[in-house]
Amino acid sequence: MAVIGIDLGTTNSLATVWKDGKSVLIPNSFNEYLTPSAVGFDDDGELLIGKIAKERLISHPNKTAASFKCFMGTGKKIKIDGREFSAAELSSFILRQLKQDAETFLGETVEEAIISVPAYFNDNGRSAVKLAGELAGLKVERIVNEPSAAALAYRMSDDSSDTYLVFDFGGGTLDVSVVDIFDSVIEIIAVAGDNHLGGDDFNLAIAKFFCTQNGLDFEMLEPEQRAIILKQSEQCKISLSSNSRVGMMASIDGRDYSLVFDNNTLLKAAALIFDRIKAPIVKALNDAEMTVKDISDVILVGGSSRMPLVQKYLEALFKREIKCSVSPDTAVALGVGVVTGVKSRNADIKDVVLTDICPFTLGIDNYNDEDPYRPLFFPLIERNTTLPASVEHDFCTSVDKQKKITISIAQGEKYYFDSNLKLGEISVSVPPAPAGREGVTVRLTYDINGILQVDVTRIGTNKTKSKTIISNNTLSDEEIRKKLAELEKLKIHPRNNDEVKYLNARAQRLFEESKADTRALIRSRLQYFNSVVESQNLRKIREASVNFSKFLDIIDYTDNDPFYGIEEEDYD
Ligand code: AMP
Repeated sequence: MAVIGIDLGTTNSLATVWKDGKSVLIPNSFNEYLTPSAVGFDDDGELLIGKIAKERLISHPNKTAASFKCFMGTGKKIKIDGREFSAAELSSFILRQLKQDAETFLGETVEEAIISVPAYFNDNGRSAVKLAGELAGLKVERIVNEPSAAALAYRMSDDSSDTYLVFDFGGGTLDVSVVDIFDSVIEIIAVAGDNHLGGDDFNLAIAKFFCTQNGLDFEMLEPEQRAIILKQSEQCKISLSSNSRVGMMASIDGRDYSLVFDNNTLLKAAALIFDRIKAPIVKALNDAEMTVKDISDVILVGGSSRMPLVQKYLEALFKREIKCSVSPDTAVALGVGVVTGVKSRNADIKDVVLTDICPFTLGIDNYNDEDPYRPLFFPLIERNTTLPASVEHDFCTSVDKQKKITISIAQGEKYYFDSNLKLGEISVSVPPAPAGREGVTVRLTYDINGILQVDVTRIGTNKTKSKTIISNNTLSDEEIRKKLAELEKLKIHPRNNDEVKYLNARAQRLFEESKADTRALIRSRLQYFNSVVESQNLRKIREASVNFSKFLDIIDYTDNDPFYGIEEEDYD
């Protein structure tokens, strides 16, 4: 039975496996490695996962969901087609799809996975990922921090020992980590990030700039119009990663608007975003007690780090050329694949040691002289401490004749105890005595798998009471069985017509985005394509799919570009 590695991303997810001495990417039913982290229902109530669901995000916003990773462990419910799901349930659909793709690729059952999460994910987020795994029929014994995985992939392509800064810039988040690689030991020294900064912010900045330059008010547009402009903005941004000039066009209420973007225009539109990129880099370096000079290389991860402007900005900040030896899209997944090899004690890589850090502070409640009803947070294991970690501290009674000492444990960085995430509590009895006379030693021990052990010993007695806190956020076996039964009732559309469904969704999206004459063309081509599908002749369907896909490419990439066919020199 194989163990697979999974990068469960905000925008895209990937699966890998350790095979023939290396980490190998697993293709999906489209023979692609990136499966969009999108889920939806089609008009017959069948569940759509990945690329097809992503295509329907604009045309069927109420029947599709994406970017739900940021809600993992928050308790937020996401509504799709009148039904409510947690982010863990939606993620389980993606995981189930990746599991199936892996089984097809490997020709054997897959029952276990190692999944990566952002280093800053707290216990709730990590438990939600484990739950998503269970709901997808996958045992998730190990969770890996994304920067550790990226560094591991980098280490496989470059054997040097040094200190790196992993710059992970995705669709909605920026995570910066300082990672040390020495011989075969990979250690995260510090992590910092901005949970609300990513490629989506560039799309919004481009969309607003486009509207302002065209005399439109972005905020006043209909939600569907905003979604279309945002989609065009994303396309414009991505094109600017490989072209020096890109024309963007949008039809609003029957009128056409256009604007030419180059990287200078983009810099003007998105200046504020660059200001925000620097802050987490400074924080991670400060936490690691390092300067830019101590960093030997910057490892780029995440789709947004492909932007030439972002790379130039980092080159200016770090005063050096930034190499891209591992693809930013696949680095994390390839690294998780290496961990699966390590886990199965594969002979090729048994010498790699992956150490991790605690991404948040763990501490207990402490008496507040100024407000006895609002205890303070007393940190015991500081964030960025290398794991496993074990720290102890003595505490004494705070009032006369106190009969027991209750220790509450939380994680977070906030000043007051109740502003942090409470993980559990433990009480020990003490003989009544004047305040401060009786006391306990509290020891917190946190291991690499996120298991927290709390030991409370009464001073002078050596009597210890212990509690293990794995997480109070996972469901019981019975609850998981119930949830599974509920989810299994959902009909998943058959995989054999993935391509047909995808082309239909894509054609419908382009129909919505296009003008009258192009629309007529799309409709007739779509009708023809579906008539071939009705014929059930597989060879003809395959041929028609290739042709229809080529036709849609032309519409997607050229029809809406007012500069199509103009050579670069023609602009000047
Ligand atoms: P990720 O979450 O790592 O998959 O990153 C997704 C983000 O990367 C989205 O905002 C995409 O628009 C953006 N992205 C993907 N490819 C490129 C590219 N070639 N140039 C610029 N941005 C990109």
